[in-house]
Amino acid sequence: MARIGFVGLGNMGAPMARNLIKAGHEVSAFDLAPGAIDGVPGARRAASAADAAQGAEVVVTMLPASQHVRDAWLGAGGMMAAAGPGALLIDCSTIDVTAARDVAAASGGRDFLDAPVSGGVMGAEAGTLTFMVGGSDAAFARAKPVLEAMGRTIVHCGGPGAGQAAKLCNNMMLAATMAVTCEAFVLAEKLGLSHQALFDVTSKSSAQSWALTTYCPVPGPVPGSPANRDYKPGFSAALMTKDLGLAQQSAKDAGVATPFGAHALDLYRRFLEAGGGTKDFSGVIEMIREGKA
Ligand code: NAD
Repeated sequence: MARIGFVGLGNMGAPMARNLIKAGHEVSAFDLAPGAIDGVPGARRAASAADAAQGAEVVVTMLPASQHVRDAWLGAGGMMAAAGPGALLIDCSTIDVTAARDVAAASGGRDFLDAPVSGGVMGAEAGTLTFMVGGSDAAFARAKPVLEAMGRTIVHCGGPGAGQAAKLCNNMMLAATMAVTCEAFVLAEKLGLSHQALFDVTSKSSAQSWALTTYCPVPGPVPGSPANRDYKPGFSAALMTKDLGLAQQSAKDAGVATPFGAHALDLYRRFLEAGGGTKDFSGVIEMIREGKA
């Protein structure tokens, strides 16, 4: 079992750290929000991100966005300086490919992986996340047993940044799928078809998707979905909008037209402007129902 420094104990990080402890690892944890550590019983309360990294065999970050990751790893008094020469460094946040490659390049020859996840808060709690990993074969082999304590599917996608590339493609598909799933439920309402009937058919037919069967955007058919708790995240619309922006930037850089991804970004930007940023991304159904999409 390893000594693990864990930084970022939000909706995802806290349950992931809990699963590491459950697997027998010794976790030293830090979050800028002072109360966040209470969500990880059994963790040592580190005084800073650098303190969590110091003396750790494995260092994991689960932070909101690229700038947070750059600051935490590379900023003054950052974790890169604090982590030991043989430490394995893993960033699980969803960030842009360039930032992932920059932080990896600054790791001073240490094993550094970008390892963003899919599966949402429920997957983080159940330890069933999918990890998409970018980095060397050797680093991946070291990380696999640690990631297996938090996830079920661990995929080595390629070199530095490849995990983030997979994640951006995944979330662009997810956002467009969720948007059209919401449209279908609203259309069904207008056509006099019950939510349950639409769910019973589509969850067992060719329209089946994770957006439908795990994050069903209407209350009822999937009792654990955010729709049953007034769209409390879950996966916030603000984070989804961030990911869609990263996907569009990457598509532009690569010279690839992704009109459905662009339309999804436009939809979620308008949802944020209307005050939906702190809601789960499935909450966009309310805007669609109001005819404002
Ligand atoms: P969150 O906002 O709930 O948690 C982020 C945490 O990081 C917060 O507690 C914040 O206080 C902390 N933090 C920010 N800067 C810090 C710093 N410098 N040092 C220490 N702590 C710091 O976000 P989340 O939902 O847990 O998501 C984390 C990442 O995982 C994001 O990149 C997101 O896109 C990705 N993700 C989220 C989900 C989901 O369903 N929520 C699913 C897959 C991937």
